[in-house]
Amino acid sequence: MKTKLLDSTQTEEAAEIILRGGLVAMPTETVYGLAADALRGESVAKIFAAKGRPADNPLIVHIWEPSQLDGLVRFVPEKARILSEKFWPGPLTMILPKADVIPDEVSAGLDTVAVRCPSHPVARELIRLSCPLAAPSANLSGSPSPTTLRHVISDMDGRIDAVLDGGDCEVGLESTVISLACDPPRLLRPGGITVEQLRAAIGDVEVDAAVTKPLAEGAAAASPGMKYKHYAPKAEVIIIDAKPQDFTAYVNERKAPGTAALCSTEEAAGLEVPFEILGDDHDMEAFAKHIFAALRRADENGWTTVYASCPDKSGVGLAVYNRMIRAAAFRIIELR
Ligand code: AMP
Ligand code: MG
Repeated sequence: MKTKLLDSTQTEEAAEIILRGGLVAMPTETVYGLAADALRGESVAKIFAAKGRPADNPLIVHIWEPSQLDGLVRFVPEKARILSEKFWPGPLTMILPKADVIPDEVSAGLDTVAVRCPSHPVARELIRLSCPLAAPSANLSGSPSPTTLRHVISDMDGRIDAVLDGGDCEVGLESTVISLACDPPRLLRPGGITVEQLRAAIGDVEVDAAVTKPLAEGAAAASPGMKYKHYAPKAEVIIIDAKPQDFTAYVNERKAPGTAALCSTEEAAGLEVPFEILGDDHDMEAFAKHIFAALRRADENGWTTVYASCPDKSGVGLAVYNRMIRAAAFRIIELR
């Protein structure tokens, strides 16, 4: 299949492809998504084939304005209403009891559905012109999520009908996922909307243990995506939790061909190995924006061992930590 490259003004052509049952990669403020008509099971099934995504990992349905939510779920609890008013459009996904219109391909057979209203104008226009869109990240399953057009093309060229260009993604990490199908609501995946912001809006929010720890063997994942190997570059990633000068010293002691670092500006200053800067010390928004591109470049550079600076676990840092710890297969060295 030849993949068409569309610019951000060609949303009508993209919408036609969707309505014919095709696949279009679209920009969102989080990461690029791979979209299909969410209400047609046979179209949604193509997403799983293009990505190599396990069939038991459900998809997020994207809507262009908050009022579309009502047609997709059985009911909207008060807390969901509050969150949609406060954080939509934006990087928040809510899990709610699903309406019958949602095909099993989207929910992976669960009786709930994940819904999000993105803020990216190109995504919203595409949905407005077509229909609610099921869209996971537009990468091959297992590899780091795409935050630029180049990442999408490198994974998806020849596998999908079209790619819609919308520039680089603003947040850089996938949306926050919260389940409102339970009480208290439960954070399943941290993202650009922080748990602190959620608690300020609706009170108690539990954080699922799988956010920061590996899933216990045999345990059922509340969010099926959490049980899969994720975001992983080919290089071995090792997280170092240390003060900046200790990080630098630790890595320099291990310098060798193929060894490199992902770190802050401060940590990079004295480094004797190649590195990618994620942002300034404690600037977790910058870390979020750059982490996936940096993981991809680690492979492009042929790095084999990558020491990564440990993100702060508060605010957006929790989301960066959650992704990085998976890229590192939970290898972390504590030097504090
Ligand atoms: P992705 O589309 O790759 O950004 O991932 C979406 C995430 O949301 C995955 O971790 C899914 O397992 C999770 N998810 C989607 N729908 C549901 C649902 N109904 N219940 C629980 N988790 C879900
Ligand atoms: Mg993904």
